[in-house]
Amino acid sequence: MTSCKILVINSGSSSIKYRLFRASKNGGGGARFALVTKGLIEKIGHKDSNVHDHKEGIQLLLNTLTQGQGAKIKDLSEICAIGHRIVHGGVTFKKPTLITSEVMAKIRECFELAPLHNPANYAGVEACQAILPNVKQVAVFDTAFHQSLPEHAYIYGLPYEYYEKYNLRKFGFHGTSHQYVAHEAARILERPLRKLKLITCHLGNGCSIAAVKHGQSIDTSMGFTPLEGLVMGTRCGDIDPASVIFLAEKEKISLEEIDRVLNYKSGLKGVSGLSNDMREIWEAAKEGHHRAKLAFDIFTYRIKKYIGSYIAAMGGVDAIVFTAGIGENEAHVRNRITKGLFDFLDDKKVRVLVVPTNEELMIAKQTFHVVSL
Ligand code: ADP
Repeated sequence: MTSCKILVINSGSSSIKYRLFRASKNGGGGARFALVTKGLIEKIGHKDSNVHDHKEGIQLLLNTLTQGQGAKIKDLSEICAIGHRIVHGGVTFKKPTLITSEVMAKIRECFELAPLHNPANYAGVEACQAILPNVKQVAVFDTAFHQSLPEHAYIYGLPYEYYEKYNLRKFGFHGTSHQYVAHEAARILERPLRKLKLITCHLGNGCSIAAVKHGQSIDTSMGFTPLEGLVMGTRCGDIDPASVIFLAEKEKISLEEIDRVLNYKSGLKGVSGLSNDMREIWEAAKEGHHRAKLAFDIFTYRIKKYIGSYIAAMGGVDAIVFTAGIGENEAHVRNRITKGLFDFLDDKKVRVLVVPTNEELMIAKQTFHVVSL
């Protein structure tokens, strides 16, 4: 296989995002990747939509690629592999995996760990299998990169039996993004990843941070679910767990409602009372809006604290890497976080890098690697 097309699918409950890459093998055993096209199928299953399910969505996507004036490929045989983003791989999946019926069963076992995401991701795989049964498919998991966390970083201070019974432990998310920007950082620094201590900050609507020591994630801020850690657009991040019990009693609200509060009504939005969008928070803060300024301060202070703790955990740091919507675009966020951060380090050569994330490219590369083996 010297050249082939890799289709990357990110299947959600009512949408399918896709990107098509051309992969060309180079002499040294690696490959070069070029984006051919990208797109989005929306409103799957909506009553006013003519795309009723994921299978129809995938069929529409493939028709778009092959038919009409804008066709990107002559026929479907040009697609040599499909890479799927799967949010949760539990403790089973530590790396990208060729999909077989046993793998499908194990992905189903992870449904209860990510009930909103995994079934939708799975539906995308099933649809591709039904339409393109002879094309190899690869699952790339958001959790896999963090499976290298040591036990002392992933076990919570809860009765151990809950870990044994339910796998209640830290998993971490955004793994594909953290792994991608760590590789890119090593390339930019012109040093081998296995010799670097990096702190990668994925700051989008969801935010997480990872300590990447010698190429391996050794700690990360998201936990059993994506709720733990940093203050995010609408998620609270770390709080005293007892406040949940306190709130349930005071507000007389159900656990389900508290879950909504913590996931959708908190974070930048909850503190500012204005918006979950950092651009709006920053504008309002500049105009003197107290709660917008407070939201900005809390957001950046939390990240700074995590960076400090990861420098301690790794025994130093070579570079801090910022990525995703806020990390890539909001210089005042980066400046606030890094201001004075390295004053206490003897070695002042810590680099601050901005690296645009590209999870789809990472999925394409990993898919290509798996099918080339
Ligand atoms: P998601 O997690 O939904 O992929 P993004 O990575 O797009 O989120 O990040 C969204 C956040 O990035 C918002 O808070 C937004 O204010 C911020 N942001 C700042 N500048 C930009 C920009 N130029 N484009 C997109 N998002 C931006």
